[in-house]
Amino acid sequence: MPEEVNPFKIAQSQVDTVAEMLGLDAGLTEFLKNPQRELHVSFPVKMDDGTLKVFKGYRVQHNMARGPTKGGIRFHWDTDIDEVRALSMWMTWKCAVVGIPYGGAKGGVTCNPKEMSQNELEKLTRRFASEISIIMGPDTDIPAPDVYTNPQTMAWIMDTYSMNHGYTVPSVITGKPIPIGGSLGRNEATARGTVITIREACKKIGLELKGATVAVQGYGNAGSIAAYLIHDMGAKVVAVSDSQGGVLNWDGIDPHEAIKFKAETGTVVGFAGTETITNAELLELEVDILIPAALENVITSENAPNIKAKISGEAANGPNTPEADRIMHENGVMVIPDILANAGGVTVSYFEWVQGLNRLFWSEEEVNNRLEKIMVESFENVYAISQEKDINMRQAAYILAMGRVVEAIQLRGFYP
Ligand code: GLU
Repeated sequence: MPEEVNPFKIAQSQVDTVAEMLGLDAGLTEFLKNPQRELHVSFPVKMDDGTLKVFKGYRVQHNMARGPTKGGIRFHWDTDIDEVRALSMWMTWKCAVVGIPYGGAKGGVTCNPKEMSQNELEKLTRRFASEISIIMGPDTDIPAPDVYTNPQTMAWIMDTYSMNHGYTVPSVITGKPIPIGGSLGRNEATARGTVITIREACKKIGLELKGATVAVQGYGNAGSIAAYLIHDMGAKVVAVSDSQGGVLNWDGIDPHEAIKFKAETGTVVGFAGTETITNAELLELEVDILIPAALENVITSENAPNIKAKISGEAANGPNTPEADRIMHENGVMVIPDILANAGGVTVSYFEWVQGLNRLFWSEEEVNNRLEKIMVESFENVYAISQEKDINMRQAAYILAMGRVVEAIQLRGFYP
């Protein structure tokens, strides 16, 4: 049988595996395997050339037992309902792992933002925000950035929602620009959380972070910032990549310079002093630390046996298939699972929401200190379960997360 790569089926199989470990009954397992609410929209946008184009979009709320639902909005040509369903489930577990009072949701629009003008993107964003505003709100469902969306996108969504309500509602969304209620530290938070968990993992396996070699797959918000944060902590970033390919220099790459280069040219490929490699080659490099920071299913049963890194810190959501997990665990690679490794983003989103609701402004130092504490504690909790039960870190994170969600469901009881 070919390996399963449908992200929703993978997310459901992860629940099945852990439900069995937790001894959950069939009904509860079925409830956790399916989103509580899905909104499918199809909407027109007048393009710059005058033509009318129809886009498909989704907002999926997986589970709301622990609080209002939370999760990003992705603009991508391959986005479909099953991807958004999977991502919404992963948000439920992610929020539970770090103990913030949210359920999970996700949104997506199938579009190619690289081929659209700013004007077209603004119109698409505003119309999509209007379409999903029937299920979003500061007390119900709070979106945030994800792949190919950014603080500007969030500003348009906040403005659209506010215009439709007649007053400014900053807490309807997080990841906003700082001048309109964004939180200091939010832009770096996903990457900061990832490198904190990698630093903790290094201590556990006796790897010196200073001088450790690192390869980063994906050079968007998460990947590029993770690269410079880990570089600034003394590690040696030797390879980075984006959708157009990768670059390698065993003497080290300056990630700050690589960010400037990508901003000018649109890619890291061609960066001075590097040799060009493929994304596939990057993943299999003889490095200490791998940071997948792009999309789902990049590590499968095919390439997992060739991964040489000692630690994989998942800044991306769903980079490993379950079969890849099994192989890497067998080979002694410590995979820090997405729902823990990239939870820094939603954690600081939570701080942004709390500040917004209370009209507060925290310093960057305060935000980073709070993030540090939550990430270290969550890492320790997951690591302890993995040691105690002799299971991999993903299964341990799921045991913690699903356990918390089930506890909330049982305390609330079943309505009616
Ligand atoms: N899109 C990010 C994630 O996958 C952030 C979600 C949020 O901040 O709500 O975790």
